[in-house]
Amino acid sequence: MRFYSTNNPQVTVSAEEALFHSMPADKGLYMPSSLPFLGPSFFDSIANQSLADIGFAVSHALFNGAIPKPALEQLIHQAFPFETPVVELDAGRLGVLELFHGPSLAFKDVGARYMAALMSYFARNTDKEVNILVATSGDTGGAVAMGFHNVPGIRVSILYPRGRVSDLQEKQLTTLGGNVQAFEVEGSFDDCQSLVKQAFVDAELNQHLSLSSANSINIFRLIPQSFYYVSAYGQVRSYGKPIVFSTPSGNFGNLSAGVLAQQMGLPIEHFVAATNLNHIVPTYLQTGLFDPKASVATISNAMDVGNPSNFVRLTHLFQNSLDRLKQHVSGYYFDDEETRIGMQEVFRQYNYVTCPHTAIGVLGLQAYINTSDQDIVGLALATAHPSKFKPLVEEVIGQPIEVPDRLAMLASRQKHSIVIPATYSAFKESLLQTVL
Ligand SMILES: *Cc1c(COP(=O)(O)O)cnc(C)c1O
Repeated sequence: MRFYSTNNPQVTVSAEEALFHSMPADKGLYMPSSLPFLGPSFFDSIANQSLADIGFAVSHALFNGAIPKPALEQLIHQAFPFETPVVELDAGRLGVLELFHGPSLAFKDVGARYMAALMSYFARNTDKEVNILVATSGDTGGAVAMGFHNVPGIRVSILYPRGRVSDLQEKQLTTLGGNVQAFEVEGSFDDCQSLVKQAFVDAELNQHLSLSSANSINIFRLIPQSFYYVSAYGQVRSYGKPIVFSTPSGNFGNLSAGVLAQQMGLPIEHFVAATNLNHIVPTYLQTGLFDPKASVATISNAMDVGNPSNFVRLTHLFQNSLDRLKQHVSGYYFDDEETRIGMQEVFRQYNYVTCPHTAIGVLGLQAYINTSDQDIVGLALATAHPSKFKPLVEEVIGQPIEVPDRLAMLASRQKHSIVIPATYSAFKESLLQTVL
């Protein structure tokens, strides 16, 4: 499997290079040069297997022998000791695909754990420490922190916007210690993302440190997210209806992964891109104008992204044709008030508790279904467990909710972070102090 840069499709690099160097020097994004077309018969043959088995079968086809089969099988089973079940709300018509059964209770575990497994495999024979830098709007940080915690040869620095993540999200970032350091940035998520991007192109820093990213700009975060679309297909294909996925989106990694699965031959009828008031992509689908803006803070904070980093990938997947993109993707967006009502309605109608992001996915799906006369199975991706946003969710639905043990035990742990202003010089200085 080779990868090209979206800024220069002529040059390709190896999987290992794309894994460790996240971003090409020309500041494009890596994309697979060719995707195997696996086809419906391949997907039918693996559809009812575990997430790990599906991940192994698809990875084996992708890596095409670059990682020996037994090693690949082992590392993927280590990465995915959990499943992604479909929960039906209205049987055969509307359901959610629960992606929050991993350790950090959000879908980002899938990408982070796959990356950690591959990195530890490729780094097994070197003694140079790899430094992972990651900006988080909430859930990436926890998934990366837990995925890489205690992985030998890897150190993780996490940047998060001060006061803009939930208490439990913050605990996931700041209480592990060991090889994980949190930087609490006095700014927005976009500031954090921009600090990380500057670090990657800082020649001096790169001389001292072997830098890698675990943000969704890394193509190996994205690839494994295609596996659960396959798993979902297996769980609902017996209805024999076209399948529509609604993906609550921020940086659009999750949605792009669904498109990858579709282009490998998974039968997906349509996608819904559902966002909060940071509606850059839904607006693009409507007007053809891509107009990134400073992000707006909302109650679905993991989607507060004003300049979606995977937008370029999404358009590349459709040969930069707006018409093709629109054939496959419809956009909807919802403000906080609509999100709250959505959470209440899903709870009232189906007795199912959603986090605000998932509620936006369900709202997007319902909006799409209302405009479509096709008989479909609609699945909204349930991107995080509601208890990650406990105070908000309880206030909105007016009932106490349960917190899984692995999250509850964090509450009493001590927070450790380094507070920095949102300037590159401050970040660089304190990064060098902590890692050298
Ligand atoms: C990250 C995240 C999203 C957005 O996913 P993208 O791949 O960035 O579009 C949605 N919901 C939750 C809970 C998240 O953590």
